[in-house]
Amino acid sequence: MDILNDEEIRAARSRLQARSAELRDRVQRVRRDLARVTNPLPKDSSDAAIVVENDEILEAIEDAATSELRSIEHALERIDAGTFALCENCGRQISAERLRAVPHATLCLEC
Ligand SMILES: [Zn+2]
Repeated sequence: MDILNDEEIRAARSRLQARSAELRDRVQRVRRDLARVTNPLPKDSSDAAIVVENDEILEAIEDAATSELRSIEHALERIDAGTFALCENCGRQISAERLRAVPHATLCLEC
């Protein structure tokens, strides 16, 4: 079976770390934006509605980034623990092809 060699795992780790830094940066920016636009709400109610809508978009971006960050952190822990390529559900090898495409995958294709 095609499994990731050490070099590929190292490459996956640096990809994950780079992505993690990017996401942290995004979350920080979104939080800054949220702090700015919610404070204070415009008096005009239609303007206020736009601000609220923007906030919802920003919050959705923040949520998505935060949950991706969690799965990246988890993948990095799995690399450190040496269980990076093992399916968390059935314990079989996750295919190298899948891990190359999605380095933070925790389940094999079947699961
Ligand atoms: Zn599985």
